[in-house]
Amino acid sequence: MRTIEHIYIDGRFVEPHGRELFDLHNPATGKVIGRVRLGDVEDVNAAVAAAKRALPGMARTTKAERLRMLEALHVAMRSRVKELHEAVLDEYGAPTSRSVWMGDYAADSFLVAARTLADYPLQREIGAARVAMEPVGVVGLITPWNSNAGFICNKLAYAIAAGCTAVIKPSEMSASQTDVVLRALHEAGLPAGVYNVVNGRGADVGAAIAVHPDVAKISFTGSTAVGKAIVRASADSLKRVTLELGGKSPTIILDDADLDAVIPGVIEAGFMNSGQACIAGTRVLVSESRRAGFEARLKAAIETGVKVGDPRDPSTTVGPMVSLTQWERVQRYIHLGLEEGARLLTGGEGRPEGLGSYLGGYFVRPTVFTDVRNDMRIAREEIFGPVLSILTYRDEDDAVAIANDTTYGLSAYVFGGQARAERVADRLESGRVVINGAAHEPLAPFGGMKQSGLGRENGVFGLDAYLEPKTLLGARPA
Ligand code: NAP
Repeated sequence: MRTIEHIYIDGRFVEPHGRELFDLHNPATGKVIGRVRLGDVEDVNAAVAAAKRALPGMARTTKAERLRMLEALHVAMRSRVKELHEAVLDEYGAPTSRSVWMGDYAADSFLVAARTLADYPLQREIGAARVAMEPVGVVGLITPWNSNAGFICNKLAYAIAAGCTAVIKPSEMSASQTDVVLRALHEAGLPAGVYNVVNGRGADVGAAIAVHPDVAKISFTGSTAVGKAIVRASADSLKRVTLELGGKSPTIILDDADLDAVIPGVIEAGFMNSGQACIAGTRVLVSESRRAGFEARLKAAIETGVKVGDPRDPSTTVGPMVSLTQWERVQRYIHLGLEEGARLLTGGEGRPEGLGSYLGGYFVRPTVFTDVRNDMRIAREEIFGPVLSILTYRDEDDAVAIANDTTYGLSAYVFGGQARAERVADRLESGRVVINGAAHEPLAPFGGMKQSGLGRENGVFGLDAYLEPKTLLGARPA
């Protein structure tokens, strides 16, 4: 069993000042597989000081120098994707196809940010003014456990593209993944202090970053509750904040959609990342007249085609929940759904059958409730597990009203004839709408409306968020 004893400050792997040891689990077995030593507020102060020292040099780098850094980071991360894939399997339990995707996403983040920077005008002429896009300063990057490596790499990639320096607080539950990423980043040979990583608890390390006067911006991915705490904590120093928060996304099946054809897309949208996805389509909206046919198809497809279990088995589609705490949370919501009077279409409380040697793992039965009303808690609150709710609508207006009747607005899915689906998509209050299962576009802005977040990540909108425009009047053109 391995203990990760180091954090990363000023270009070196160092032992943290914090003494607490935190157990790392394999969620597929429930067994402890390692430990990580957590940092504390003193470690945050050292990391911020290092980032602050490195800032003037980093801020002066040219676009070409930043592009070379991003290229070096991409090459280094690419050489470690297999190792990262293994760490994701052991420590997080994402099924094979997802964990491979997670490794690729982490490495490719640097390429996508480089493509964005290559075309991005850091100097602009606006009327008589010259406008210089300057790095915002030291940034605090805080990540959750459901895609820890990808979020570290994606946030850091845009911070570097902008010429910022960073202090990163990953999820401590993902310390093995963070360790693989760190070794790769170190190999890329960037100047000391450009990025610093402090493993630790959100309540102390995360909170210390959020209040630190020398941190100019926070980019946070996590729950809406913690996002609000970060806004409050960062108010005194008026930090810039980018918040990628929770969701309760609608999947709308329009009346002209082919029911057989949409089922795989509904399942993928709902159960992606074992249901532990901020963008999961967990409120499934179908018209009253087609409800029975849809339910029969969805039930059959889940019971025959959605395999829960060993994440290393390529036929597995739903892995374990990340932790016992998360497993218990999902169980509470399934129980609540029954109490609220929703009807169980498939799944239910407890562990699925046939887990064999994986009985100790944090597995949940893929669950679908029907007869759900949009005022029930299972329809309003983020469950973050493979639990879907079917709601019915009368007509298109009703579907749009139900879809928008949520405090969230991160993602939405629409299935149906193209023109109609686009018309409905135009009316949804959502940062992203996926029509008929279209593929992800990494250069497009990503983020939520309403309480799903503040600001956007990725592409030019993501890069904008790490820059401050400075207007120069009377300066010669660049
Ligand atoms: P979380 O509890 O909000 O934690 C996210 C990160 O914030 C963790 O590193 C956490 O550390 C840290 N943290 C906790 N309290 C803090 C504080 N007071 N100040 C600063 N940092 C603090 O979320 P999670 O359970 O890890 O992740 C699941 C949530 O993330 C879901 O709500 C999901 O929707 C959301 N999410 C959103 C997106 C998106 O792009 N919109 C993507 C993925 C996930 P600890 O682990 O020590 O608590």
